[in-house]
Amino acid sequence: MKRRTFIEKSTATTLGALIAPRFFNSKKISPLKGNIQPLVVCTWSFDKASAAALKALNDGKTSLEAAVEGVAIEENNPYNTTVGLGGAPDREGTVSLDACVMNHLGNCGAVLAVENIKNVAALAQAVMEKTPHVILTGNGAKNFALEQGFVAENLLTEESKLNWEKWLKTANYQPVINIENHDTIGMLCRDKDGNIEGACTTSGLAYKMKGRVGDSPIIGSGLFIDNQIGGAVATGMGEEVLKTVGSFLIVELMRQGKTPQEACEEAVARILEKNPGKPNFQVAYLAMNKQGTVGAYSIHSGFTYMHAQEENKIIKADAAF
Ligand code: ASP
Repeated sequence: MKRRTFIEKSTATTLGALIAPRFFNSKKISPLKGNIQPLVVCTWSFDKASAAALKALNDGKTSLEAAVEGVAIEENNPYNTTVGLGGAPDREGTVSLDACVMNHLGNCGAVLAVENIKNVAALAQAVMEKTPHVILTGNGAKNFALEQGFVAENLLTEESKLNWEKWLKTANYQPVINIENHDTIGMLCRDKDGNIEGACTTSGLAYKMKGRVGDSPIIGSGLFIDNQIGGAVATGMGEEVLKTVGSFLIVELMRQGKTPQEACEEAVARILEKNPGKPNFQVAYLAMNKQGTVGAYSIHSGFTYMHAQEENKIIKADAAF
C-alpha cells in the first residue's frame, strides 16, 4: 500500500472510531405507526391556550398553526402579566416581547425585544416563512410586523403600569418564583401525521434591564424541536437556561435514549450543578417525544403544565425542591 493511501485509510478509520460511538449511542428511531392522536402540551395552566391549539389540530391545521393560535390566546389576554398585551414592562416602563417558533422541517424564526406588537409568535412565524433570516430584533422586527399588517398598540395596561410604579419605589430586581402560577408560554403540538412543531412567547422577566433578552426566543434554549426525536420548551430564569442550552440538551438526551422525564431531570441537574444549594430562582422544562410521551421537571415545586388530548388536563410536575 502506498504511504498516502495508508494515511488516508488510517485517518478514515480513526475518524470512524471517533464518530461511530455517537451513532451507536443514538436511540434507533422507529417510524410512528397506526392512528396518531393529536396532542398539545404547554407550560403552566394555560388551559384555554391548549384547548384552542387542540381544536386547531382536530380541525386539520398544522402543528405550527395550532401552536401559534394557541399561544395567541395568552398574548391577547391583558390580565396575563408575563406574555403579550399586559406583560410586565422593563425597568424603564416599556413592554418588550420575545418569541420563537420551530417547525417539523427544522426551520425556525424568532423576534427579540419587540415593542407594540402583541402577537409575536405569529411574527416569528412570518420571519421564518417570509424572510431569508431567522432572527429580527427591536425596531427591525416591529417595522417588518407593520409591513406584514400587524397592528401597533400600547401593550402597557393600566394595571401593569401601576405595578411598575410600585416597583420603582424600591427598584429591587428579584424575579419571583412561579409568578402567579403562570409565566412564559411554551407549546409543543403533534398533529395527526405525527409532526411536532411549537412556539414560545414571553414578555420576559419583569423589570429586566432595557434590551435584556432571555432564553424564550433563542432556538435551543427556550424551544427546540427535532421532528425525528421530539421537542422541549423552557420557562423560568432565562439566563440559566441560556447557559446550558436547555431545550436542545433535552432533545439530544432523548436522542441518546432518555425518556422525556429523564431528559428534563438531567437538564435541571446541569443547572443545579452550577448553582450549589437551593437556588433562589425557578427553571422548568417540558418535553414530548415522537411517541407522545411527555415529561416535565422544575427546580422548585409549583410548576404545572397542560396536556391536551382526550382531556385538557393540568398536571403538576415533579421538582428538585
Ligand atoms: N424564561 C423567560 C425569560 O427569562 C421568563 C420566564 O419564563 O419566567 O425571559
